[in-house]
Amino acid sequence: MNQVIPIEDQLSDVLKRYWGYESFHDLQLPAMTAVLEDRDSLVVLPTGGGKSLCYQAPAMCSDGMAVVVSPLISLMKDQVDALTANGISAAYINSTLSDAEKWNVADRIKSHDIKLLYLAPERIGGGRVLDLLEQGNVSFFAIDEAHCISQWGHDFRPHYRELKLLRERFPKASFHAYTATATQRVRDDIEQQLGLHEPESLVGNFDRPNLFYRAAKKNNLMNQVKKVVDRHAQSPGIVYCISRKEVEKVTAQLREMGYKAAAYHAGMADDDRAQNQEAFIKDKIQIIVATVAFGMGIDKPDVRFVIHTGVPKTMENYQQETGRAGRDGLESECHLFYGGNDARIWKMIFSDQADAVRKISLDSLQTMIDFCHNVECRHRGLVRHFGQDLEKDCETACDVCAGSIEIVKDSQKIGQMIVSSVYRQQERFGVTYTARVLKGMQDERITSNQHDELSTFGLLKINPLKTIQDWIGQLVGQGFLQQVDNDGFSTLKISPSGKQLLKGEVSPRLISPGEEDSKSVTKSKSSKTRSMKGTDEGLFSELRTLRTAKALEKNVPPYVVFGDAALIDMARRFPSSRAKFLEVQGVGQKKCEEYSEDFLAVIRTYCEEKGLPLDVDVDAILAQSEPAEVRPPSANSIQSFDLFEQGLSIEEIAQKIGRAKSTIEGYLTDYIRSRKITDPSPWVDASLITKVQEAIEEIQPARLKLLFLHFEGNIDYTTLRIVSECYRNRD
Ligand code: ADP
Repeated sequence: MNQVIPIEDQLSDVLKRYWGYESFHDLQLPAMTAVLEDRDSLVVLPTGGGKSLCYQAPAMCSDGMAVVVSPLISLMKDQVDALTANGISAAYINSTLSDAEKWNVADRIKSHDIKLLYLAPERIGGGRVLDLLEQGNVSFFAIDEAHCISQWGHDFRPHYRELKLLRERFPKASFHAYTATATQRVRDDIEQQLGLHEPESLVGNFDRPNLFYRAAKKNNLMNQVKKVVDRHAQSPGIVYCISRKEVEKVTAQLREMGYKAAAYHAGMADDDRAQNQEAFIKDKIQIIVATVAFGMGIDKPDVRFVIHTGVPKTMENYQQETGRAGRDGLESECHLFYGGNDARIWKMIFSDQADAVRKISLDSLQTMIDFCHNVECRHRGLVRHFGQDLEKDCETACDVCAGSIEIVKDSQKIGQMIVSSVYRQQERFGVTYTARVLKGMQDERITSNQHDELSTFGLLKINPLKTIQDWIGQLVGQGFLQQVDNDGFSTLKISPSGKQLLKGEVSPRLISPGEEDSKSVTKSKSSKTRSMKGTDEGLFSELRTLRTAKALEKNVPPYVVFGDAALIDMARRFPSSRAKFLEVQGVGQKKCEEYSEDFLAVIRTYCEEKGLPLDVDVDAILAQSEPAEVRPPSANSIQSFDLFEQGLSIEEIAQKIGRAKSTIEGYLTDYIRSRKITDPSPWVDASLITKVQEAIEEIQPARLKLLFLHFEGNIDYTTLRIVSECYRNRD
């Protein structure tokens, strides 16, 4: 009798056999199941979410050939190389193939020898390719970077519209669209343009917990850049600049400092650009310095840092560009240095745009600037922009939560002085003018307006003009002031919360610009150790050298041989045999056959020399890291402990110490844990306490998300967390 193997088991099996992976990433299983059940799907996952596997793994469980439509011609060869290295039969058809190569692929299609075929969208319109596909027993179609079909996406490609021809010609095959662009409008457009039939719609979590985000004012920029690069020894990184001129300048400066850096921007000759990109992908240089032109089509999974030397154009750009860090899930850092002339340069770039477009560009830029100035968890700020939210602040993975930002003590008073000056100037002037009034500068414009007679004149005279300007920017970013266009001049207006600030009902959180935050550096180092937990760094480095040699031999990027995650896993397991080597994450059967001998030899010699044991039980080591959840309380949280003890509410404390409410909620968790508090009643209504406690007893283990779902979202996470923490302290 033919036994039917459950879909999940089939998929787990190919995941392990070909890729050496043990488990599915978020939403991969339902996405893969939709493919195997022949239901159309639309999958939205952030960069690094593992979209490729969503169609590659099902292709290996299906009869016939899966067709992947992708606009990224430059990537196809790497993708096919990576699949081939895993023992999968793959090929591509695009304009870079010679006629002979095309014939060869055609023969392989006809003889049903290919499992995954990558196709450039331009090929579809011609018809000949469609005839060929008909002979190839197509199992399903995967449309990668599907937002390219939408006019609302940031990268519209007219050829994508021809994909409808595929649907007409292959009415029985299912269609699966993948993108990292989350807006509803783009999603709807993809669904409609591709003619998807009641697709399974899967939208992933947009947070990237392995990334450390930081936004700091520019202050000796090259020094700031150097500090980041130096923490990453030889690891690859991207430096984004606003203009081509700056790309050239920063590249030259980095080279002078002795780093292997190369430039990438649209003004360079195609060959030079391609050569620099290739050198970066193959680890022949460490740093690529680029404009926004760089990135689409870069699949490098081990980028360890992304630096912006100026404010990005939009939040979408920021998310995409920083998203290129840490695709392999290992800790990586994103540093944004803003200020100086950034906004002016962007405005010059926008000046060619039609009025309506320019307005959108300026609004998007302002949202980005506000994000820099805002003092709330950066992870939260980012996902909120994309219409999602977080269960809790990141705690250590951004400059704000890591406590590296010092809030100016007199924030409320300073904020009131500024808003009051705007009020007295009758809301008719901009940032620079207002700063000059507060600085007490007696220039002609100020005296002729008699603003040197205002009570706010010179109130902030001991502060540098730049600092005052920056504080005004922060008040805009935090919503106390608004910048309004008035006949081409930008003027400041007071918002409703600005009025509350004047009455002393709320407080901004101002920071002094230019303070290098050494603390954030320490934090990111500690997160780096987290992913390196139990790893022997000496062995890791030797394995990297071997990987580079193998990659050179085969002329493929080093990550095609093994990703960093696989080398890290080897350097903590110290496998002694092929069987143990197969247990390493990222080692499938083909790679085991090909590389185990050489890698095992290096591991064995290293362990002998250092007297280290082989075949270490890695699960035991990793399990030790679990209690890391109980962090030592930070200086800021300790400050709030006294206030909790005095019985102040979360809102009152947030206002008093000028931190976001969500931050204080995090401190409350620390407080409850450290003082072993069992009674949640100071913060939660008695009727809710009983309900939540009953649910905790019912749902074991009582994870917050499960509780949240249990109450169908009617009880907020803060309440659930407080009651759960107190409940845990009863043991
Ligand atoms: P995306 O296309 O969504 O940006 P990729 O498909 O390039 O993401 O995957 C990002 C990285 O994560 C790749 O190195 C990939 O091999 C790895 N990956 C994907 N799925 C898994 C998994 N289930 N387990 C371990 N690693 C995975």
